[in-house]
Amino acid sequence: MSSFDPRRRSDTPAAAITQALYRISQAIGHLMRLRGEARQLSPAQIQALLFLRFARPGARTVGGLAERLATTYATASGVADALERKALVTRQPLPEDRRTVALALTEAGQQEAAAVEDVLDEIEAAIASLPDADQEALLRGTQAVVRRLQEAGYVQVYEMCWGCHFFRPNAHPADPRGPHHCAYVDAPLPEPNTFLECPDFVPRGAIEPRVVRLAESRKQQRRRR
Ligand code: SF4
Repeated sequence: MSSFDPRRRSDTPAAAITQALYRISQAIGHLMRLRGEARQLSPAQIQALLFLRFARPGARTVGGLAERLATTYATASGVADALERKALVTRQPLPEDRRTVALALTEAGQQEAAAVEDVLDEIEAAIASLPDADQEALLRGTQAVVRRLQEAGYVQVYEMCWGCHFFRPNAHPADPRGPHHCAYVDAPLPEPNTFLECPDFVPRGAIEPRVVRLAESRKQQRRRR
């Protein structure tokens, strides 16, 4: 019996919770579609705008977008093309590697991204209505599930430097390129970039060798693109 089998759902909390998460994912898809219809954007275009608004600069490429959307390079390139036609995105060579094309939001793209960034507020409001103890339990439980899915390679976690295994705060405070250091790309980090989302984030603390290996293998794949 699967977790879709209605008889099983009432048997085990794990099956019931899996169904609840599935319904939440459907609700997220629905909210994305509704917002997209209102603003003449597809759900993938909304995700791309939010990616370009919050991802660290070096990740804002077509390959980075493909990773974020969990899709192929060709599909991500098509999403970028559509946003470019709408004058929301531009393409330009990455300053540190001119063979790689970076994506950037235009002024209109920044405004559009700001207009859609509250798309999941309904979900957050539903969670915020729970008692504090339930929210804390939900946070612990969902983080553990996400960690396991990350280790299995099913999901990529984008977070900021401050909780990252590779982050070295104030490693070289006088460096004009940035006071902090990323041991993953072995490069200085300016303060503002440490508050952006990074696809190479690996949580500090309960470090799993498999998660680090996954991050390393992603880096190699990106170099081959
Ligand atoms: S790998 Fe970690 S420290 Fe480096 S930029 Fe990404 S989040 Fe920041």
